Amino acid sequence: MCTEKLFEKNVYLKNGNFKIIKVINKDNSIHIILDKTIFFPTGGGQSCDIGTIGDFNVIDVYEDETKTIHHVISEKKCSLKEGDYVDVFLDWDHRFDNMQRHLGEHILSGVFHNEYGGINRGFHMGNDYMTIDIHLEDNQKHNEITWDMCKNAEIKTNSIIYNNQKVKTFNFKTKNEAKDFPVRKRLELEEDIRIVCVGSENNPSDSVACCGTHPNTTGQVGLLKIYKVEANKGMYRIYFEAGKRALLSYQTIYDTLNQLSNQYSAGFDDLIDKIRAKEEKNKETKDRVYKLAKHITAEEENKIMKNLVNKPLAYKYDILTIDELLKVGRNLSPSLTSLLSLVHNPSNTILLFSNGNIDCGKLVKDNAAIYGGKGGGRKESARVIFPKKDYIDVFIELLEKHLR
Ligand SMILES: [Zn+2]
Repeated sequence: MCTEKLFEKNVYLKNGNFKIIKVINKDNSIHIILDKTIFFPTGGGQSCDIGTIGDFNVIDVYEDETKTIHHVISEKKCSLKEGDYVDVFLDWDHRFDNMQRHLGEHILSGVFHNEYGGINRGFHMGNDYMTIDIHLEDNQKHNEITWDMCKNAEIKTNSIIYNNQKVKTFNFKTKNEAKDFPVRKRLELEEDIRIVCVGSENNPSDSVACCGTHPNTTGQVGLLKIYKVEANKGMYRIYFEAGKRALLSYQTIYDTLNQLSNQYSAGFDDLIDKIRAKEEKNKETKDRVYKLAKHITAEEENKIMKNLVNKPLAYKYDILTIDELLKVGRNLSPSLTSLLSLVHNPSNTILLFSNGNIDCGKLVKDNAAIYGGKGGGRKESARVIFPKKDYIDVFIELLEKHLR
């Protein structure tokens, strides 16, 4: 059976009372068939409506090959019976969001077509943004879509929104009947063609076949914002948002911008310059720190080298990093005559070095666990981390005793 689609005649119906034709029990859900419906089924790049039938939430709506619309409720049992009349409500916020976005996409695609001869070859309505893929075909005037062209398209699109043009739907039984109607994209369906026309049908701002739901004036889109353009598989992918979502994304972006401008004590106009200046300064500081560390490690190497004796030595550090200490130890390693311990105070880490005559890895393996130390290593170098600072001196003393 064919469900009567009330949303095609009046897109603003938010509720109704309809007859239940069939209740179909599936594995984990129940599918309800009504004599007529205000629920738009998934199709044409638009997600389905959601809402309620009686006390039950409608989570999915689809149309089968017999043009019957199924309303899916996520219950295993329900009290709805065939022949009963039931109250039906749409989630209007969800529907209106879809309508704003869908019409926004039509207007923008129309502008890309009218301004640059671009054809919309793909459309995606994502959760965070929408995209259209514009193909320039055998365009004589344009061989790419630049960001400036996008900004121009955005201004033109929003002008059509402010002009509050009428949006009308024209229905045709066959493709032949529709052949003289101006459309920006070749008709694909053979019959039951629905053309959505923005502005006058003699010189439309946009005109294209579509089965989705749209507001009846462009002003209801409110706003359209393009986010970016990317070359993609020989086409240009335009990222954008329309309606309330475009406004909400502005709020998020301004929150971020305001935080950044406070952090850098900058206005929006000099924010980038201030960030660049800060980055430059950070780089200078980093270079200076690198040079200082190099200088200090060289000094340390010299100092230890001069102090080398035939018994274990230990040095403690607060500022040098573990990597820098490793470098010092490795450079000294071949010259060592006994065990060298370099302590990294902030992390309670001891780095052990020898020329290979003393097995550092074995020392750690045999003794570290006594004080809860964890680590390991090779003959020439090993490391151990202790849970408490107090264990560092005790451990070093233990090793000294061991090596006497
Ligand atoms: Zn549409």
